[in-house]
Amino acid sequence: MLVIFDCDGVLVDSEPIANASFSKALKPHGIDWSVEETMRRLMGRSLKSCVEICEAEIGAKLPDDFVEKMQVVTYQGFRDAPLQAIAGVKDAALALQAAGIETCVASSGALEKMRFTLGLTGLWDFFEGRIFSASQVKRGKPFPDLFLHAAISMNVQPFDCVVVEDSVPGVEAARSAGMRALAYAAAPYADRDGLGAAGGFLFNDMRQLPELVLE
Ligand SMILES: [Mg+2]
Repeated sequence: MLVIFDCDGVLVDSEPIANASFSKALKPHGIDWSVEETMRRLMGRSLKSCVEICEAEIGAKLPDDFVEKMQVVTYQGFRDAPLQAIAGVKDAALALQAAGIETCVASSGALEKMRFTLGLTGLWDFFEGRIFSASQVKRGKPFPDLFLHAAISMNVQPFDCVVVEDSVPGVEAARSAGMRALAYAAAPYADRDGLGAAGGFLFNDMRQLPELVLE
């Protein structure tokens, strides 16, 4: 069996910081979304897809350096906070490993971003060599490509994979890949209705994860 962890919101508590930075960066370009609204619209998607959604909203292209400038602010936010691992997730991953269950990471984020966020929170070494990014496949979440790529790379059949996700596009991607989806919905901004409707099994505490996986 293979447990595939999403990164943002599942391994690291990056969503409030990243979406605050995104929300602020959009204001001069005519999009006045609160942090919550930004999360609702963009969470779980690749940066490329987020930019496309924003450009469709304003009906114009964002400047070429928009992403680069915003990333500088976001990364500084991760350093300042500092970014934390999601409560209990390290112990859950260790417990799965001790039970002989394989683990990996599959994120809409770029590898370099994960090197930074997983590095800051002490998770990079645990997952190194088993970290997959949407940049490695043609279509990001909600398409199944990334989770299928992770399963193939780890030599595990899709039906033998369990995905841990916190976003609706992520749960949709897992279900499209024929995988069980456990939806971590502890965060105040979690879209519980959407996660459930997409086929995710909701849970609120990472300490429950090993038991849920082995069910
Ligand atoms: Mg996520």
